[in-house]
Amino acid sequence: MTKTPKSGRCVHCLQNVDNLTRDHVFPSAWYPDTTPENLQRWTIPSCKKCNEEYGKLEEDLLLRLGMCIDPEDAKSSGITDKVLRSIDPDYANDRTEKQTRERKRNKIKKEIVKWEAIPPIGLHPNFGVQNNVYYPEYLSIPISADKLERLCHKIVRGITYFVAQTFIESDFEIQFFTIDDKAAQTILKKYQEHLETYDRPGIKVVRAMTSDNPDAGFYAIEIWGRLKMYAVIKPKKLSC
Ligand SMILES: [Zn+2]
Repeated sequence: MTKTPKSGRCVHCLQNVDNLTRDHVFPSAWYPDTTPENLQRWTIPSCKKCNEEYGKLEEDLLLRLGMCIDPEDAKSSGITDKVLRSIDPDYANDRTEKQTRERKRNKIKKEIVKWEAIPPIGLHPNFGVQNNVYYPEYLSIPISADKLERLCHKIVRGITYFVAQTFIESDFEIQFFTIDDKAAQTILKKYQEHLETYDRPGIKVVRAMTSDNPDAGFYAIEIWGRLKMYAVIKPKKLSC
């Protein structure tokens, strides 16, 4: 086990703080239930504020994403069940918790949109209609693009620190993008000689640091084999 330093720099906001915590690069609740107990999970130093803010963001995203994935998929084993239980009042331990779960369930139910046909835009790649699945009706849940982008930034910063013990300094920017698998393959092919893969149950991160520009990097993040996000890190352009 790595001991948490009491003071030091937060990987996310880059501030020096006295109350460093350990933040999970891949949120701890997102690991499938088949993950071995003793497996080393990726953690990084984070200030309490960033850690708590990301905790809320990850809880919201997990609730939404967990309802959009295949409950039978081994790569996300147990995730959908856990998400549905978290808003099921029957699983509450007391009255207050029961009310909280009811409130959460009603809130998300109100956000579900019913479609006559699959909308042509706005679908996250790999979250559209799956082949060979019968859909009695088309339902969707809104997922904040801003929150996905923040999650991507967090994982990029986290992996960079985890593998290289370096911070992405403020004179660099992280550009987030989503593309379909075919377009991603083209980029990955371009970087094929520089690719390094880091994985844990439920997540795979492929990173390419190119020798012609050692400060720039390409990241491909894949969660449960379904949610795919991409990012490029490059020096910020200086404005004159
Ligand atoms: Zn921070």
